Amino acid sequence: MIRFDFLESHGASVAAISGKAEGDCGPNATSADARIAFLRMLGLDGATLVCPRQVHGGAVACASSSDAGKGALGLDNALAEADALITNEPELPMGITVADCVPVFVVADGGRAAGLVHAGRAGIRTEITENTVRSLCSRYTLSSEDLYAIIGPSAGPCCYEVDAEMAADFHAAGYPVHGRNLDLWEANRIQLLRAGVPEQHILVSGICTICSTHFFSYRANHSLERNLAVLAI
Ligand SMILES: [Zn+2]
Repeated sequence: MIRFDFLESHGASVAAISGKAEGDCGPNATSADARIAFLRMLGLDGATLVCPRQVHGGAVACASSSDAGKGALGLDNALAEADALITNEPELPMGITVADCVPVFVVADGGRAAGLVHAGRAGIRTEITENTVRSLCSRYTLSSEDLYAIIGPSAGPCCYEVDAEMAADFHAAGYPVHGRNLDLWEANRIQLLRAGVPEQHILVSGICTICSTHFFSYRANHSLERNLAVLAI
């Protein structure tokens, strides 16, 4: 696992992602024990975790204290069909599961609010990261200049090759492509910048799940195991 000091020093109480060492932290009931154990390691109560039903879409859902525990033990009672969560509720851990898709963590300085995004290739095309920042700012009356963000471990430009049609589509949308390799990190960084997050407030973890041995990767081993990104203020 990795904890992101960069965000924890700007108002997150916990910003972290599990890896292979913590076991499969995917969204199904069979992985509930691993998720709860991972949250315990972070000093959080796993029973309060809020997870959406991820659909590679563009919807942003708001989590409030009454949502605590939705999706914690399985998808049956997940918060909503959404790929991003925002909250201004302290001590309410938000979770999204990823293998090669990009987890984007966003925190308002001082921990006034936070957002957690599942932004893979499909999510990027819906502009979900940009929309999450705009939702955070409008719902909680924040300035985007006060936000800090981490682009977490995910498929890197070193390894994420797609077919020519997909590469052309991504390029036509204004995102960087190297040969047929998509740069999901830079695409999300572009969206954060477009939404007004200052360049010096954005950190790219630079860890590729496909060529790193520490994280689950769908591309690398075609398994359904997942890493769990967790963010709380
Ligand atoms: Zn790589």
